[in-house]
Amino acid sequence: MFEKEKKEMLECALQMKEYQLISLTGGNVSMRMPDGLFLVTPSGMYYEKMVPDDIVVIDGKGNVVEGCRKPSSDTPALLYMFEHMPQINAIIHTHQPYATAIGMTNDRLPACMVTIIDACRAEVQVAPWTPSSDIGMGILATQYAGDSLAVIMKHHGVITYGDSLEQALFAAVYLEEASKTYVMARVMGPVPELSPEDIAHEAAGWATYGQDK
Ligand code: 13P
Ligand code: ZN
Repeated sequence: MFEKEKKEMLECALQMKEYQLISLTGGNVSMRMPDGLFLVTPSGMYYEKMVPDDIVVIDGKGNVVEGCRKPSSDTPALLYMFEHMPQINAIIHTHQPYATAIGMTNDRLPACMVTIIDACRAEVQVAPWTPSSDIGMGILATQYAGDSLAVIMKHHGVITYGDSLEQALFAAVYLEEASKTYVMARVMGPVPELSPEDIAHEAAGWATYGQDK
């Protein structure tokens, strides 16, 4: 069931690792499927050793429909987000260090770089602390999403989402790159913000970026 999507999720998880957004068994990937089903990575498994069949098919209540692995410990939070954000089809959770560091000292990452505007769509809010594996993580992520495709979870990591896995991956990778640049710039001095007009102009340009789909 859903073999193509399971392979895409595993490739996505390996890219998260390649871009240093996660280490060891941290983070997870999940996707909405037809007929009220969802795919979620297994809990606590090394991505390098994972095969597509380790990815678990669950229903909207978290019951395993196919697969012999235990689903991600964040499953209640992920299902909450899929239920309350009907526009999203994919969620990525990471422990990416630069964005997470910003979350410990700031309450938002402003849209101060083109990559945040392009890939995250809007400035990224920092949601208050909630324990991992708690549905509160999904409740707060939904609450703090705003117009953005990313939320920083204080003292934990990042959640990105989108209508596709690729959109969620772009949000996570570009958020980390922009966060690193922001941290370096803050060391040298205050970081100016872009005007709403500049932000709107940049967003319009991104709509036609890349090859025609
Ligand atoms: P899982 O391996 O259970 O998905 O947990 C990883 C994680 O990052 C928890 O927040
Ligand atoms: Zn985590």
